Amino acid sequence: MILERQRQPLRLAELPEPSPGPGQLLIAVSACGVCRTDLHILDAELEHPKLPLVPGHQVVGTVAAAGEGAERFAAGQRVGVPWLGWTDGTCRYCASGRENLCDEARFTGYDIDGGYAEMAVADERFCFPIPDGYPDEQAAPLLCAGLIGYRALRLVGEAERLGLYGFGASAHILCQVAVHEGRRVFAFTREGDEETQEFARGLGAEWAGSSEEAPPEELDGAIVFAAAGPLMPAALRASAKGARVISAGIHMSDIPSFPYEILWGERALGSVANLTRRDGEEFIELAPRVPVRTEVSVYPLEEANRALEDLREGRFRGAAVLDVALGG
Ligand SMILES: [Zn+2]
Ligand SMILES: [Zn+2]
Repeated sequence: MILERQRQPLRLAELPEPSPGPGQLLIAVSACGVCRTDLHILDAELEHPKLPLVPGHQVVGTVAAAGEGAERFAAGQRVGVPWLGWTDGTCRYCASGRENLCDEARFTGYDIDGGYAEMAVADERFCFPIPDGYPDEQAAPLLCAGLIGYRALRLVGEAERLGLYGFGASAHILCQVAVHEGRRVFAFTREGDEETQEFARGLGAEWAGSSEEAPPEELDGAIVFAAAGPLMPAALRASAKGARVISAGIHMSDIPSFPYEILWGERALGSVANLTRRDGEEFIELAPRVPVRTEVSVYPLEEANRALEDLREGRFRGAAVLDVALGG
């Protein structure tokens, strides 16, 4: 499924099989998660993607062939390809353990063709082994929704009372991780979305309500997954002194101005950008120990446009995943 021009639906296309360059794997894709970032690319809220582009950065498949010098994974081994697809390894960010901020970074399904396809190539250094016990479809959302959510959770710090604003693919995973870590989770959804609030309580949230509501207790930290700027001051208003409020999305509508007093008391606003390979290794190791269970809505690859629209409209719980073997 390719994006030829932004603000247009994806198109089903037959492309020549890609060939792995030095250090790259050729991967037979079995499943690919659908992420809100894919919508931001489609809608041109993120500019200058590679065009035409195969989107998708939560890719699960098996190694079909290896390019020159690629020896990390065996043929047939199951691997995952995340958003971070390449870094220069030399800039000041890479040199200080912050490759997620690399000036020259290239991203899967944005600068590099991704996983809305039967075959993909990826730099083996940025791939992860997929833990046994996760079927392909259940593993796919771990690769961005899980991984970048995990990085956001680390940035929030030790917060015991954790607010999750927007309870979609990422929050449904993070809620389980947070409860496993002994935190108390407060889930915020669109007003009146009782089904999602029930879903959140079922995953261990102690309280679930509308993002307009004040929680029953102050929050020690919050992660804002929804791309709505007004949620940032809303989360600050719900927070205790010292709380960090982290935006986990790559794009957000403008944040309205707010009185300094809701930031005062060492509260902080921040963002999380991308992932490091270390985040990935930690999270892939942690997920089966929680154990994180992902709830997925599966679509055939050629129905990627329907999956994206369902994501836009909030029509499913958990995560959407494209299954390459379905349909056709
Ligand atoms: Zn993503
Ligand atoms: Zn760099």
